[in-house]
Amino acid sequence: MFGWSINLFRIRGIQLAVHASFFLLLAYAAYEGWAAGGWEQLLWSTGILLAFFACVVLHELGHSFTAMHFGVGVRRILLMPIGGMAEFDAIPRQPSRELLITLAGPAVNFLIAAILWAVVGFGGDDYPADAEGFGQLLLHANLLMGLFNLLPVFPMDGGRILRALLATRLPYLRATFWAANIGKVLAAIAACLAAFVFHNYLTAFLFAFIYLAGDAEYRAVLRRDLEDAHWRAMAARMYAAPAVAEEPPLLGP
Ligand code: ZN
Repeated sequence: MFGWSINLFRIRGIQLAVHASFFLLLAYAAYEGWAAGGWEQLLWSTGILLAFFACVVLHELGHSFTAMHFGVGVRRILLMPIGGMAEFDAIPRQPSRELLITLAGPAVNFLIAAILWAVVGFGGDDYPADAEGFGQLLLHANLLMGLFNLLPVFPMDGGRILRALLATRLPYLRATFWAANIGKVLAAIAACLAAFVFHNYLTAFLFAFIYLAGDAEYRAVLRRDLEDAHWRAMAARMYAAPAVAEEPPLLGP
């Protein structure tokens, strides 16, 4: 499902790629804008969308640069309509490192929000169709993005923070198990609330996706642990086994 992506450019060696479905979202935003108010509205809605996703990229770069600081390779950042995803070679299992790498993403959003606040002010909930309104809308979007990502729903940032905190006391696999299950319960509740109470099906879909992603990542950690255990057992057996090519007993004189 992560196929069909287009490579854009590289940032410090990290490939930035856009999933094809992102262009559907862009086309939808353009159409909505056009229908609501012609060219001016079209430029506004596509401009907001592109600026919003530029902030998503900066959020992922926050994670990525912190990871690279710890020597973790980052292959690419994939942009999808539901958000961005940085693909690391391996997520460090030291809780302190995972904590810093994870916190760096939302920290970027809060930093952008703080800068915008200083430049255009906080604003209200109706946005004038000018640079100030654009900045205020982007400010609110960044605050929301930062806070939303901090929800303790694994594998979102908040869930990773929870895992890292649990991993200071529990083995990594148990910590992942608990973080993933707490996240799944919360994601299921959020999806039901979004669908049946607020009739916001996009948010419901998003939480359903997060539920599946949390489950998939827990299984990946479990599989890696089982493989590690398998190879450790193999190695132990090989070293414990008597040497095969024992010298044949010499015949006595
Ligand atoms: Zn993040």
